[in-house]
Amino acid sequence: MSPGGGRGGGIVYLVGAGPGDPELITVRGLRCLRQADVVVYDRLVDARLLAEAPPAARRVYAGKSPGRQALRQQEIDALLVRQARAGRVVVRLKGGDPFVFGRGGEEALACAAAGVAWEAVPGLTSAVAVPGLAGIPLTQRGVAASFAVVTGHCAGADRLDWAALARVETLVVLMGAVRLGEIAALLASHGKPPGTPVAVVENGTREDERVLTGTLGDIAEIAAAAGLASPATIVIGEVVRLRQVLAPPAAACGADTQTVSRLA
Ligand code: SAH
Repeated sequence: MSPGGGRGGGIVYLVGAGPGDPELITVRGLRCLRQADVVVYDRLVDARLLAEAPPAARRVYAGKSPGRQALRQQEIDALLVRQARAGRVVVRLKGGDPFVFGRGGEEALACAAAGVAWEAVPGLTSAVAVPGLAGIPLTQRGVAASFAVVTGHCAGADRLDWAALARVETLVVLMGAVRLGEIAALLASHGKPPGTPVAVVENGTREDERVLTGTLGDIAEIAAAAGLASPATIVIGEVVRLRQVLAPPAAACGADTQTVSRLA
């Protein structure tokens, strides 16, 4: 991989940083980062990854915390285009995978519309990697042959077909921590059994990871009592039971993993 292709050699790499643990970026992503002139990064990106960019690289925070955004999306798009047009290697570093609820598609479209060279560098999405590292395979022979990943951001008032989602064997909800009760109630009202196991992984793959488990019927109460915060990945389905055997020992990743469980 060599930078270039655009006018003046500038290029935008839309790089997925992975779910949290800085070791979970791809080899290609790290290589891009190490040759960056400019890094435009999000809130969930680990500081140890930013340290991999050359000391002279410009670092621009474009993160969004609930209710507050450092840069508007149009400003981010314009910044990427401007920097690439100036001949710079721009790394747009995003949590997880850039094309899973990451607005990477919008940024790619902005580059394409401006005639700026760009390349996607996929990352491990938290939707798959966070449950996996918490001991929850999303599919398992005889248990679940399908999974769906949805946003819980606007549960109830959105275009998601909750009746259909209630029939999906493994449902993964991102951005759903604050609406956990609403999501559980929606699924239950569409026929998902209240005893369906649910896991919520907060700060997955990080040192402060916490896993809460329960059922569709009681997970909202468990999460409220535990003071659940974001980022959190919700997994709903029978595969959650596998965690009873597959949960990694805390020592395996050097993490002080806390588990709050009420799963029978
Ligand atoms: N592009 C990202 C998702 C961005 S949306 C990806 O592919 O992972 C942000 C949501 O991702 C959060 O609200 C949360 O649901 C999930 N998420 C991101 N990092 C997480 C982490 N370390 N642990 C648990 N969930 C995480």
